[in-house]
Amino acid sequence: MVLIAVSSLVYIPIENERVLSQHQEYILTNYRWIQFDRGSRTSASLPLHIIKEYKLTTNSAMCKVVNGIVNFVGAMPRREELRAALGLREFDNLRVGGQRKICEVSGVPFVHPDHPYNRWISIGFHRPFSRHFYQTFAWLKGEEVFTYHPGSFILTNYRLYQFDAGPKKMYIFPLHMVETFEARGNELKLKATTGKFKIKGRVPRQDHLLSVWQTRAWSHISKEHLDWLVRPFSYIAPHHPLSQYYVSDSATVTPTPVAQETTQEMQVTAGSAGAGTVFVKPVIKDRCTNCSAPMSWEQIDWTGPDQYACPACGHTHRVDYVRM
Ligand SMILES: [Zn+2]
Repeated sequence: MVLIAVSSLVYIPIENERVLSQHQEYILTNYRWIQFDRGSRTSASLPLHIIKEYKLTTNSAMCKVVNGIVNFVGAMPRREELRAALGLREFDNLRVGGQRKICEVSGVPFVHPDHPYNRWISIGFHRPFSRHFYQTFAWLKGEEVFTYHPGSFILTNYRLYQFDAGPKKMYIFPLHMVETFEARGNELKLKATTGKFKIKGRVPRQDHLLSVWQTRAWSHISKEHLDWLVRPFSYIAPHHPLSQYYVSDSATVTPTPVAQETTQEMQVTAGSAGAGTVFVKPVIKDRCTNCSAPMSWEQIDWTGPDQYACPACGHTHRVDYVRM
């Protein structure tokens, strides 16, 4: 079966925004990445300043942002186009009001470091299981998705949101309430302060569970707010309105993350189009085979989509892709 995606990019430029590269399915500007996502059949807009890590193939992308994960399926920008847009960092000159505006125009939550919670980002493609979590529960300050399987679990540094394929139930386990756990294949045995559980289906790996549990990141959440981990956003917001943490639009911004291509393993499949996606990592040679000068991502000159030149002698090399 051949699916033909008819893209419809929605792009309304904002003040001082410049288009850097453009394609039928994407636009990269100095502030945003606007992408037609074939998974959700929507035009999604992602502010560059919130991207922390990303993984890119020709037909899918996964971005770790401050408050969650964004998956896109479709014709992606070329790596050097995205790298160039992120590398400009013109968003560094924005103040709080400028960042807020870009988020508002993009339809994504504006997260300020002083805010103790906010919404998860939910643009792009998500399976119903993940979407439900991101739209229902609050993102808590410092919370990061550690690993996930789109239809089965989301493991953050604070909690495990897990689907049990046996009785078809959903659980949230705040990690501070977890006492022991044993993940093996498609089964997770877990003892929490609230009881013993045996879960069937796709579950996180034991070593992943162990490393988030050992990090004990939840100790950064104040004790009286630990219950937020199991409360929906609709409960938290009226009790602790974000307006009480007012931030002036003219305030300067704390440094935004430097986006990097991730080296971390992450379980992701973005919809049927992305099923079986193999993530690859581009690799360049440490030294030029012609003149043996050292080469790094910062120094090389791009001479084609997959081709770069030695900064010392100009000899061209091809990028190698290794499976992650
Ligand atoms: Zn050389």
